[in-house]
Amino acid sequence: MNLRPLDFRSDTLTQPTAAMKEAILAAPLGDDVFSEDPTIQALQQRVADLLGKEAALFVPSGTMSNQIAIRAATSPGDEVLCEAECHIHYYEQGAPAQLSGVAMRPIQGERGVLQPEQLIGMIRPSDDHFAQTRLICLENTHNRGGGRIQPLDSVAGICEWAHEHGLLTHLDGARLMNAVVATGVAADQWSRHFDSVSICFSKGLGAPVGSALAGSREFIRRCRRHRKVLGGGMRQGGIIAAAALYAIEHHVERLAEDHQNAKRLARAISGFKGVALSLDDVQTNMIVFEISPSLGPALELVAALRERGVKMLAIGPQQVRAVTHLDVGRDEVDAAVEIIGETLAELTAAPAQGRKALSVGEE
Ligand SMILES: *Cc1c(COP(=O)(O)O)cnc(C)c1O
Repeated sequence: MNLRPLDFRSDTLTQPTAAMKEAILAAPLGDDVFSEDPTIQALQQRVADLLGKEAALFVPSGTMSNQIAIRAATSPGDEVLCEAECHIHYYEQGAPAQLSGVAMRPIQGERGVLQPEQLIGMIRPSDDHFAQTRLICLENTHNRGGGRIQPLDSVAGICEWAHEHGLLTHLDGARLMNAVVATGVAADQWSRHFDSVSICFSKGLGAPVGSALAGSREFIRRCRRHRKVLGGGMRQGGIIAAAALYAIEHHVERLAEDHQNAKRLARAISGFKGVALSLDDVQTNMIVFEISPSLGPALELVAALRERGVKMLAIGPQQVRAVTHLDVGRDEVDAAVEIIGETLAELTAAPAQGRKALSVGEE
């Protein structure tokens, strides 16, 4: 059997397919700082249509997309509500403080999912002592929540509450299309609740670079200015937008395969001794499992797996994350399961001595 690399660290690791590269070669290009790149314009129109918004903006990364949205929605001294482990708060270097001068107010969800009731009382009074609550950000699917879907009724409830209280709403939809495919609820039915929506092309959709931010024409006009000053004005960027456009046309439905493969991997791993993993938590293309301290720290398991050719990520002291994507299929899942089983059996038989707590880094 000719297996591809058993790399489950992230869905960002995919290589562009041959057909995607052909689309890149065929793309008409222009200078997008002059708004003259036809491929970027086509992509922006496609994303605006997909998300049911007036306009969209192509940006180099999901981080830039989120941070531009926050900057356009707030003023220095404002406060932004978010889930405590959302990417914007957890993985973006405190950028809302660095770039927009705003404070984040994190609220702990259940595997990334917030309930509308948790927000009651979270808006600061209009009083000289307080920051002014201005924006709420949700994330769907939730990265640190292990690919969890924030259900549509709670999205609607939270955004309705926010708008009633004069807040703006932003969706970090880096993996929104995974939620779309998993639920059958169209992208615009999710995005209609938000003033701005960010999606990533470089995650499960398999493009090499890029994200897009969608919203009202006026909002996106201001975002375009922020993009430029942050260094995100691109010239013949159609060369990467072509891949994103190709990904939207050809790689959305296939996300269902990633979800099936994640479930297959989860079912097998949950059967191993010393592993805690609830199948109900596996809703899209990610699995997060907890290993018993008797097996050692997650970093040690990840290192042992890597030596045997399986790559996964430690995302907490005892937590391991695996992500399925375009470049790993059912055969790679089955091969990985076998190696994980052997590795866990070895760790159970010969627990290492004097293990020290290791720090954990992650994207
Ligand atoms: C990956 C990711 C981002 C950021 O994307 P980059 O392109 O890596 O900057 C934002 N939000 C979520 C939920 C992500 O998973």
